[in-house]
Amino acid sequence: MSEAVFSKPRYLQARGDSARVELLPGEFDVWAQHAEDSDDFALETASAGKGGPFGAQLWLARTIEGKTEYKPVYGGEKDYNDSNAVVSKGQASAHAEAENLSVEKRQEVLDFLRENKGQGWEVVQVSSGESCPSCRSKQMLFAQELMNEGLIEAGQFHVVFKATYERTGLDANFNDEPYDTGLRALFNLKVLDDKNGLFIMNDVFDQSTVAQDLISKGKIVRTPVVYAKEDSLPQNVVDAIAEHTANGTPYAAVISPDGKVLSEAVDTRTSEAGATNDFEQTAIVQALHGAWKSQREELDIFEAWELKGARVVTNINDIGPLAYNEALWSSLHSLQVLGGNDEVDFNAREIPSLSNRDLFKMVALEYNVDESPLHVVHSVDPSVPNRAHAAWPGILKKLAEEQGIDAHYDGAQADHE
Ligand SMILES: [Zn+2]
Repeated sequence: MSEAVFSKPRYLQARGDSARVELLPGEFDVWAQHAEDSDDFALETASAGKGGPFGAQLWLARTIEGKTEYKPVYGGEKDYNDSNAVVSKGQASAHAEAENLSVEKRQEVLDFLRENKGQGWEVVQVSSGESCPSCRSKQMLFAQELMNEGLIEAGQFHVVFKATYERTGLDANFNDEPYDTGLRALFNLKVLDDKNGLFIMNDVFDQSTVAQDLISKGKIVRTPVVYAKEDSLPQNVVDAIAEHTANGTPYAAVISPDGKVLSEAVDTRTSEAGATNDFEQTAIVQALHGAWKSQREELDIFEAWELKGARVVTNINDIGPLAYNEALWSSLHSLQVLGGNDEVDFNAREIPSLSNRDLFKMVALEYNVDESPLHVVHSVDPSVPNRAHAAWPGILKKLAEEQGIDAHYDGAQADHE
């Protein structure tokens, strides 16, 4: 793949021949209609002040003798639709697809597929907008989990989306593309193939004229990954890292620019028999969520995820794609690594079957290449505006007047699907 592939829109590989729509279970038109319904749902929930104008649905489907069965996943909810909940939760990554891949819904899919193993069922996530890298990490993690149990095969986890990044930028002034372009650059410039991985990112980007050009135009967002200087850290964090490293436990802390520890977390996933892999219980993700929560609840900060130059310090050397992409919303100074060992990295695997590096590469892959377990389809002509997105500027103005929300909040930095 040429160096410049990441300067072209990603969605082109989710259209037409390259999307191989015949791989979807059932009719393309049915899925395109579900994407339209998701857009309508997003318009409703955004108007009600729940969050950004995005919706998602999770489906199980199979075709037998030319007849397709479509089964929506409820996960205990009354509705199979989910919306963006960034505003209501104060959580930058509470995008529609992420809400839609809740523990409850994933468990329902797992249980159903276990009971109906070998019966031809496939998984389809429908979204009103193109998934950001954080949501794609969650889709990939769940696809891997299902593949590991032999419940689906590669290519049987489908993602159907309506609005491209570009379209959403035009209509609603949200732009996820720079986050994703950074990821594609990491892959295409072979940062993820180097033994030092993310630690050489800045050097490699410096040497690429394409990357430099995109960075100068604000079209690549990334968080530097560096080794921490021990004397720059609070002593209790240094001590915690030594203790957890000795025990092989992944640990992370968020430290504000003035040296205050905003949150600390360890990986608390349990291996309860039959339970879905709870990737939100990993150390870096929990530390970030803890910092966002305390900013929302204790300081009443609306854009609680904005950590303005804070550092995440961790003993994980092999940082996974979910942790890295989740951290992108917080305008961090850097992700800093201290200590750690192979055991910590093993226990920090976001999906136990793969190293975080191998998983990272899969999340960064272009759509629909042979190596990717996900099958991604774009459902409409890119000139068609998304209804919820087109209404968003007006909704935002109204919410700002009614609730005193900062009218400058346009989500350009941190609110997504
Ligand atoms: Zn997302």
